[in-house]
Amino acid sequence: MYLIENYTRLPVSFVRGEGVYLYDESGKEYLDFLSGIAVCSLGHSHPKLSRAICDQVNKLIHVSNLFINPWQEELAGELMKEFWTEGKVFFCNSGAEANEAGIKLVRKFFRDRGENRYRLITFRKGFHGRTYGSLSATAQGNLHKGFEPMLEGFDYAELNDINSVKGLISKETAGVMLEVIQGEGGVNECDPEFLREVQELCRGEGLLLIVDEVQTGIGRTGMFYGYQHYGIEPDIITLAKGLGGGVPIGAVIAREEVAEHLTPGSHGSTFGGNALACRSGLVVVEEVKRLLPHIQEVGEYFKGRLEDLKVGMVKGKGLMLGLDIGRECKEIVLKALERGLVINCTGGSVLRFLPPLIVGKEHIDEAIEILREVIQ
Ligand SMILES: *Cc1c(COP(=O)(O)O)cnc(C)c1O
Repeated sequence: MYLIENYTRLPVSFVRGEGVYLYDESGKEYLDFLSGIAVCSLGHSHPKLSRAICDQVNKLIHVSNLFINPWQEELAGELMKEFWTEGKVFFCNSGAEANEAGIKLVRKFFRDRGENRYRLITFRKGFHGRTYGSLSATAQGNLHKGFEPMLEGFDYAELNDINSVKGLISKETAGVMLEVIQGEGGVNECDPEFLREVQELCRGEGLLLIVDEVQTGIGRTGMFYGYQHYGIEPDIITLAKGLGGGVPIGAVIAREEVAEHLTPGSHGSTFGGNALACRSGLVVVEEVKRLLPHIQEVGEYFKGRLEDLKVGMVKGKGLMLGLDIGRECKEIVLKALERGLVINCTGGSVLRFLPPLIVGKEHIDEAIEILREVIQ
């Protein structure tokens, strides 16, 4: 009644969660194949995560970034271990904020060198967030509507079309920003060959390559970072969603030579990477590193079972999967919810599956049975 109506909420209120299950006020059980939109990577009430959070709450939640924060340093170290080269980390609170920082960093990198390069090439159907920088990077006209003018300096190319990228390069182009699998746009995968060409193009033209790993990062696709499937070497990656297991946290990782351009006072965040968020992130990262073979295995199994349904095209990797049924899928999301399966719909006709990374084959079987009923 008092909430601004910028969301159309589904008619259910969850009060408790355990593992891959959620429970509503009446005690009804739901299989959670959304994870709060790729956020609750370890599922709900994960004993180790809950313990760490409670312990940290009882010690210290927040002191600001005016002081040394050992948990931040430890988490940055763990994230860097998986990155392809030396680099540094900046912590914030969300995906949009991570992308803002990434976009600012790209501009600063070239400004510091006295170069007037500030334009970023991004991709149609991409999604980078709702703040002005990240929204301007998001090449979806319907999301810009009513909020114009967008921030200057973004050019939109077609995914998997290298010529559309080449055609946009000018002497003011600073970089290329993309998701290796577009999440909100409908689980659209980049071709490996396309990504190699983008990488080559960036190297040749002296452009920075930014990979938005807000959804694909931290194990979601079966590799720790999504870009690792393709052997590319991004200059900057951004993280959020799954990193805190439900506690808000975002991060930017930049290659050493790029990272050093965010000098003292040039950028900041009051909450960014506080003790509570970093303690959560540390547990998530430790568990996800262990879960990677499991994610690959159950991801393959899930993909196979979706293909066996023969009701549309299956897309995605690991536990970031989509089923394009070729027609509006909102109705199916509602029917699935009634039968106790939480999923969502992106890109109009794509059912999206983002189960907790701890999901087992038995849960997948359960979800497939519900899907079979509601689709047919
Ligand atoms: C969700 C998402 C964002 C935005 O993250 P917020 O935390 O909602 O600001 C940015 N990029 C990608 C790829 C996302 O999936």
